[in-house]
Amino acid sequence: MPTCTALIVAAGRGNRFGGPLPKQYAILNGQPVLRHTLLAYRAAPEIGAIRVVIAPGDEGFYAAASRDLRLSSPVLGGASRQQSVLKGLEALAEDEPELVAIHDAARPFVRPADITACLTAAAATGIDGAVLGVPLADTVKRTDREGAVAETVPRANLWRAQTPQVFRFAPLLAAHRAVASLAEAEATALTDDAAVAERAGLKVVMVAGSEDNRKITTTDDLRRATAVETRTAFGFDVHGFSPGDAVMLCGVAVPHTQALAGHSDADVALHALTDALLGTIGAGDIGQHFPPSDPQWRGVSSDRFLHRAVDLVAARGGRIVHLDLTLVCEAPRIGPHREAMVASIARIAAVSPDRVSVKATTTEGLGFTGRREGIAAQAVATVEIPRS
Ligand code: MG
Repeated sequence: MPTCTALIVAAGRGNRFGGPLPKQYAILNGQPVLRHTLLAYRAAPEIGAIRVVIAPGDEGFYAAASRDLRLSSPVLGGASRQQSVLKGLEALAEDEPELVAIHDAARPFVRPADITACLTAAAATGIDGAVLGVPLADTVKRTDREGAVAETVPRANLWRAQTPQVFRFAPLLAAHRAVASLAEAEATALTDDAAVAERAGLKVVMVAGSEDNRKITTTDDLRRATAVETRTAFGFDVHGFSPGDAVMLCGVAVPHTQALAGHSDADVALHALTDALLGTIGAGDIGQHFPPSDPQWRGVSSDRFLHRAVDLVAARGGRIVHLDLTLVCEAPRIGPHREAMVASIARIAAVSPDRVSVKATTTEGLGFTGRREGIAAQAVATVEIPRS
């Protein structure tokens, strides 16, 4: 196998990304995106050296992302991706590898086996370059300026190009040098390195890769790429009856011959749900966040408590998957109010009602609920949170 250097292009400013860091340095599953990419290239046995092109000013981010990998110093990029690649190629010219594998830093999921496949294809006799890509599965339409369909483009033999794009080094450097003197409009029309190579008449082939090798362009892409774990936790609460004419359950006032006694509105259901949610992120219990000794919580509506737990889960990047509640009492009857209760919980927790379940049971006259001394509630919350 000929010598091959990987040129990782990390010089973009990522205007579409909108996060606090450029996307290639954003943290994905505990590590900068660029580091995932570097580790993939380290795992491809045919890659002899790795060189990264970064934007001036990003040296600190780069140092953190490449820590302990003992790479050569980064190359400072130019105003466009094309100029950055040319600067990277010029920096490699001294060692002149036989092949160069150009890769976008923001494609961290590239499989080492696919890097190898591109190298092998590019090294074949009579071939100058190989591009990893995916055959187009969707039907392709061309529209006019008003958005009306002008043509259905036959999709046979159409591909979406990814990186790596592997080329024989010397002809690719010559092709990029030739493009550097073009007018801007002509140069920007060449949207990848293969287009630069094709313009120079080089023979480039496609290599079938994977949809997993997607590019992280927006914060939404980053969120979707984040590995999550599912957590489940339990909540339990009891309130005793006191004189009154309604009980608050799930934020719904249910007419009854008694009320529930408690410091707040004594909504035993929302209290159990709050504790279950707090449990999923190990954030203590409701009494810790809203001490009964604190007069500011006297008579307060318990949706405040559930809101707090929902906010804490959201602050961890979590998503509520399901909330399941069982009310235990002889009376009042829950059935007539179940739908309103589901809707109320869904509203407070900002989830769709199909992610909420309200059930009721009695204890067949046994125990304190059987003696109609109060109501018990059990809740189970299931959330997805980013793996730490
Ligand atoms: Mg309580």
